[in-house]
Amino acid sequence: MGSEGPPRVPDSGGSAACPHCGACEVGGAEGCNDLFQEVVGREFGRPELFQVHRLTVDAYSLQHPDQYMKSAKSAVAHLTGMCWAMEDQEDPSVSMALSRFLDGTPALAKPFPIPPPGRRGSMTIVDIFLAPDSAAHVKRVREWARGAWEAWSEHHAQARLWLEAAKRTGGSPKGGRRGG
Ligand SMILES: [Zn+2]
Repeated sequence: MGSEGPPRVPDSGGSAACPHCGACEVGGAEGCNDLFQEVVGREFGRPELFQVHRLTVDAYSLQHPDQYMKSAKSAVAHLTGMCWAMEDQEDPSVSMALSRFLDGTPALAKPFPIPPPGRRGSMTIVDIFLAPDSAAHVKRVREWARGAWEAWSEHHAQARLWLEAAKRTGGSPKGGRRGG
């Protein structure tokens, strides 16, 4: 096959699927993570893609909780961030409160690690990696994120509680040590 045309998944020396998200023939978890890093690189390099960067990180994390949601803090951050994106349409007025909330020590009502869902959405980082242009990239990230969020439906109620707590307490970072 020629090297021209749409991007192809690099041959990472293995046809193994990713054990976390189920992406096929990516060279296992490591190859999957390589694709994620490549996608993140594009988002930093192209302003029109940066708008979905946060969503990309949250979606990938929800599909790879063993790697990216090991600590309570990271689990809360990705679930709450995704809830804000999906249900508040990334309301900018909440953005600062959310950051403060996540900088502090959110009260944790659940034991950790949170048991992740078995199925984690039908789309994977491969769909984003293979997007032919920026418009497709942005559109696919939104669909992919929606699927990853739906997969965690069992924990939506908890995520909403954290988001509400962020809105309530975000204005006054009680106990949160602020750097700078
Ligand atoms: Zn994966």
